[in-house]
Amino acid sequence: MMSNSGTNRPCGDRGDDVLDYLKRMQAENPAFCYAVQDENLFWVDPVSRINYTHFGDTVRFDTTFRSQHVDLPFVTFTGLNHHGQPVLFGCGLLFDESEASLIWVLQTWLQAMSGQAPISITTDPDRLIQLAVAHVFPGSRQRFCKWCILKETQEKLTHIYQTHLSFEADFRKCINNTETIEEFESCWQSLLDRYYLMDNEWLQSMYGARHQWVPVYMRDTFFGELCTSESSDAISSFFNGYIDAATTIQALITQYEKAVAIWHEKEMKADHDTMNTIPILKTPSPMEKQAANLYTRKLFLKFQDQLVETMAYPSTKVKESGAVTLYRVAKFEEDQKAHTVTFNSYEMKANCSCQMFEYSGIICRHILSVFRAKNVLTLPSQYIMTRWTRNAKSGQSVSEISPQLPTDAEDPLVVRCNNLRQEAMKFVEEGAKSIHIYNAAMDALQEASKKVATAKNKKFVTTDGDSLANGGNQHACGEHQMTRHQSMVEKQKKISELTAELDNTNQRCEVYRANLLAVLRDMEDQKLKLSVKVQNVRLSLKD
Ligand SMILES: [Zn+2]
Repeated sequence: MMSNSGTNRPCGDRGDDVLDYLKRMQAENPAFCYAVQDENLFWVDPVSRINYTHFGDTVRFDTTFRSQHVDLPFVTFTGLNHHGQPVLFGCGLLFDESEASLIWVLQTWLQAMSGQAPISITTDPDRLIQLAVAHVFPGSRQRFCKWCILKETQEKLTHIYQTHLSFEADFRKCINNTETIEEFESCWQSLLDRYYLMDNEWLQSMYGARHQWVPVYMRDTFFGELCTSESSDAISSFFNGYIDAATTIQALITQYEKAVAIWHEKEMKADHDTMNTIPILKTPSPMEKQAANLYTRKLFLKFQDQLVETMAYPSTKVKESGAVTLYRVAKFEEDQKAHTVTFNSYEMKANCSCQMFEYSGIICRHILSVFRAKNVLTLPSQYIMTRWTRNAKSGQSVSEISPQLPTDAEDPLVVRCNNLRQEAMKFVEEGAKSIHIYNAAMDALQEASKKVATAKNKKFVTTDGDSLANGGNQHACGEHQMTRHQSMVEKQKKISELTAELDNTNQRCEVYRANLLAVLRDMEDQKLKLSVKVQNVRLSLKD
């Protein structure tokens, strides 16, 4: 399998402790994988691989430990779980900083994730990394870490930050708060003019790379971006607070294990809070109630913010053609900053010019305002991203990753072993969440162990009986099993077909209901207009 893939040269002294640890981990669990190339190391544990199947849509490839005055060639792959917490997808030690090494670690990681590339990937602003990522993930949208750029700008423009105290706020506003490309460009220009920075080389190069890091250029792609506030620039990294300038390679594994354990605990706590406490609803909207039962707590609060804000965001119909209506949505008394929402009533689909849903997976206040106007009372299914829901880890994965690596595929024993282990891991994770689930899980396991014992006995009796009666029977038994398996598969297929049909019908009902309500409203409007007219006619007759 993956261990010792690559050029197979023995690892140098520098990573020996880590390599020993990796060998030990793999001996304990074959689903733990690691790879060696010259002195470079890569590894990923089984939990990370399962997490990637659920949350592998957006990835942060972090190499800042190499550059931030930390003498540690540690690189990490992380993402965001359903609570928006950082989650680990793999690590490496890159002693050699060449493009070839970067390509090796990216390719090895991709292989460990069964070749499933993410939708988007965030990296440090570095030319070599940019090239390596483009080479290995040609279909993924790449962006530079905004926080890294803001930090570097502060270092490069120390004199400006010190002499012009308002610069930092103006600069951040220009990056974070501009909502259209035109607005950003004009804001950037006036920033340069105001602080006489037209000839600043650093800002020129950052402007040149603006498509790779300024949010306004990337809002059409999912990055799981949840915060829009200033503080969010300091992305909470998985290893922040565990690995710093004082961490040696010898101490790395201890710190690594600490971080893994702590984040696991934090996820369990967030799961527990979501499942066992009820959020306070702020509106009588059925959509809010639906969202409270659907999303994890943190994501529900994000959604709730948007929903409550719709009160201040009236929508105005601009144009209607067929099923598609164009709306203008602006904050009360801030009409100059309007967003455009197109709404298709047949497909129950809305698009907003702010592209918040595309960028973060949470529906924006502007679309919600249009939904209210159109009497869409519950969230249409296409606006519920499973990865943000409380069932993110039990529902369908972002990508179903086969648990084994390509080289294992031929050995059915390894495949069976890995599949069972992966299923069991899910069981353990879920089962530990509360005493209630734990008891259910324990009961189910005991039941399962009885079934396994029965299967074992049956197999023994059958083979034994076969050898006594008729050697050919084993084949027939196999066929019987096959037929049973096939009928199971057919049943499963039927169930998923019916489920899909039910979903479809539900969606159609939703559309009809919304349309009916819209017709009723129109009639009410007409009635009102008519009665006003009648009133006017009466008045004019009196005159
Ligand atoms: Zn919007």
